[in-house]
Amino acid sequence: MEPIEKVQSLCPECLAKIEGTKYVEDGKVYIMKNCAEHGNFITLVSEDIDHYRQMDECFDVDRSKARAPLTDTQRGCPYDCGLCPSHKQDTCLAVVEITDRCNMKCTYCFANSSMDESLDPDMDTIRLMFETVKKCQNEPTCIQISGGEPTLRNDLPEIIRMGKEIGISHIELNTNGVRISNDQEYFDKIAAAGIDAVYLGFDGVSDEVYMQRTGRKMLDVKTEVINRCEKAGIGVVLVPLVAKGYNLHEVGKIIDFAARRVPAVRGVHFQPVFHSGRSPSDMTDKVTILELLREIEKQTEGQLKVSNFTPSLMPHAHCGATCLTLIDNGGFLPLTNVSMGAVKSASDVASKTKKSIMGRWKGLEKDPKPASSCGDLLIKGSCCEKPLSELTVKGSCCEKPLIDVLSKNPGSGKDKTGGWADFIEMSKNNYLTISTMAFQDVWSYEQDRVENCCIHVVTRDGRFIPFCNYNMTDCNGNFLYRDAA
Ligand code: SF4
Ligand code: SF4
Ligand SMILES: [Zn+2]
Repeated sequence: MEPIEKVQSLCPECLAKIEGTKYVEDGKVYIMKNCAEHGNFITLVSEDIDHYRQMDECFDVDRSKARAPLTDTQRGCPYDCGLCPSHKQDTCLAVVEITDRCNMKCTYCFANSSMDESLDPDMDTIRLMFETVKKCQNEPTCIQISGGEPTLRNDLPEIIRMGKEIGISHIELNTNGVRISNDQEYFDKIAAAGIDAVYLGFDGVSDEVYMQRTGRKMLDVKTEVINRCEKAGIGVVLVPLVAKGYNLHEVGKIIDFAARRVPAVRGVHFQPVFHSGRSPSDMTDKVTILELLREIEKQTEGQLKVSNFTPSLMPHAHCGATCLTLIDNGGFLPLTNVSMGAVKSASDVASKTKKSIMGRWKGLEKDPKPASSCGDLLIKGSCCEKPLSELTVKGSCCEKPLIDVLSKNPGSGKDKTGGWADFIEMSKNNYLTISTMAFQDVWSYEQDRVENCCIHVVTRDGRFIPFCNYNMTDCNGNFLYRDAA
């Protein structure tokens, strides 16, 4: 056993802050921690220390703090959210939950939803939440409307419109798609209100998967949502929860499905299961980031490799990984590779992440202008504005000649496209972002990650709580924050 570093973590039994050690054994990375009252806990973090270190080496960003702390430092992290003055990172995505209610009863559900309509926040409360985002988040402002299932609210179009009037730059809708698929009039109102993207729960391409989690067939529902969004010009991000014994065997097919629906589908965002809220307590279903990436490599027959995934432009090397790929005749031309090193040029990671969300996940451009720069071509509105003659891509920024990128990804790029003109033509709307975020539960918890978190849930009294803290429960299902909030 080789210790790597000390970590601040939580006891899974009592949520007390306890110290742990990150260590390597047989090439794998673990966290071991001890509560004086409840004993020892060991959690696997990664199957391969070399890959783990590579992700660290690939991650190098400057940070920007939130505009205003909203809470005082009293008991110390993680009990003072927030954001408290110690928090190191501005919000890149503010999650606004407009209901606890849901029309499904999934076996996995971190939100622990109920069906009591009287508990929904009223319009004044939602206005306060939106205004707090506008006041405290640096521009541009990005909100995800979430729940529960937000489409249970008939006033969702008014809520979206209110957000736009307040000046929120980007509003995406997190949904299971049931109502959108069967209520065209309602969907038309949401679209007219100005929703920017749909974040669609999408766990697989076979109904067996949906039957297992929800007890009903859902593939037609999901397909219909994509069809409707495509017609309305609204970008869709597919969001699979991933677990062993559930759908890990379908990740390649999900990416294939997404590739066939590009440009209506803009991204696939995998979320490995974490044990908070209403999730089965059996831990054998957990999937690490590396395990997921290895499955993607295997199931795409090597077209997308583990090495094509770089740390996401999130605030910590081990919170997520992203691959940006072009789609060419159903095949993949990945543009990102860890061999290119760290994304260094970002002066403000939260701002870059927000622009990236806005650019990549917005709907299809009906009449795209010719790309004139790397920013136009790949990450609209983000990073550099260099002329195409200097076109460069690095991670999701721009420091190395694109030709380097393509040559470092054998089988991609210039061989297939036959030249710049073809390449540029193909890439205007033909890209897919494949990403993952490994949300933390009480077993895998590292304070360093939440202190740097940029995904924040907005509470009804106008505080920001890092998503992992907000949904954190002890092993008996008692929330650290959600119930009180
Ligand atoms: S997670 Fe951030 S806001 Fe919450 S207590 Fe820690 S430093 Fe403060
Ligand atoms: S929500 Fe959790 S996994 Fe995502 S950035 Fe924040 S701390 Fe990391
Ligand atoms: Zn304890």
